[in-house]
Amino acid sequence: MKHWILCAAVVVAACSTKPDAPAKAPARPAGGVGPAASGDSAAAIQKAVAVSAAAKAAPAVVKYPSAALTELCHKRAADIARRYGKKLNVVVHPPFVVAGDMSAARLDSHARASILGPARAMWSAYFDKKPDKAITAFLFAGEKNYKLHARQDYPSGGSPYYGYYTPARQTMVMNINTGGGTLVHELTHALIVYDFPNLPTWFNEGLASLHEQCQIEKDGITGLTNWRLPALQAAIKARKLRPLAELVTKRDFYGPLQGLNYAQGRYFVMYMQHKGLLVKFYRYFREHASGDGADIRAIEHVFGQKISDIEPAFLAWTMTLKFGR
Ligand SMILES: [Zn+2]
Repeated sequence: MKHWILCAAVVVAACSTKPDAPAKAPARPAGGVGPAASGDSAAAIQKAVAVSAAAKAAPAVVKYPSAALTELCHKRAADIARRYGKKLNVVVHPPFVVAGDMSAARLDSHARASILGPARAMWSAYFDKKPDKAITAFLFAGEKNYKLHARQDYPSGGSPYYGYYTPARQTMVMNINTGGGTLVHELTHALIVYDFPNLPTWFNEGLASLHEQCQIEKDGITGLTNWRLPALQAAIKARKLRPLAELVTKRDFYGPLQGLNYAQGRYFVMYMQHKGLLVKFYRYFREHASGDGADIRAIEHVFGQKISDIEPAFLAWTMTLKFGR
């Protein structure tokens, strides 16, 4: 079993929001930066240097995953092995435990392509806090075994076609033969909750849907157009799309307009990406997501425009996009 440890660059980046210098430093009188002007004693300077060195050294000690999390993952893997025997292989890459009905090599290849790579990209681009619990994925190479397993969660049938995620058990179940898009969608939900626990559904689903079709880069992830586009363009053309302000303020995402809400949310998040504002929005919104009107305030703050001006530009841009033929 291989262990995956985040590269040092990512760990440092995750800690970079913390000031290197002690909090007291800015209170230093203007111009008092040198020993002659400040009158600091040698002992005081030595102490300051020691404090500064300690503060700088601190981020290097942060290690992820922790030994406790790694142990937890191996325990989870052993439970799965006990329960399923030879029917499933299991690979462990903390915080992920990935089980599947294919060869260990093939399973590991799926885990790297559709879980580890996207997770690393999302942590690098958006999420500072990483899971402290194990996240499990069951990957099945076909509908038969997927449906069989899904009966545990859908006893009377009717499990989703591609796969699903159970937040309570932090478990993703996929028919991986249908592609990795849904897995990356659900993975976004599984990871974001540690970093932005109170995020509203429109943004949670918008970002997760954006990642259904994406390009993984060394230090980020870029969403591309996908199958949700034609219905959105048709609704815009027919002037039947709900106002953007309504999508982001009414908490009715999973209501009767659900299908279009996914599309509108996805492409609005993609529009932010197109404008180079998505990471900025994520970070700002994470800190300012509470209270009435917080969603619109955050959007307007990051765009530097009123939502009534943002919306027509978003719709016009959406109509220029192309998917398929
Ligand atoms: Zn979702």
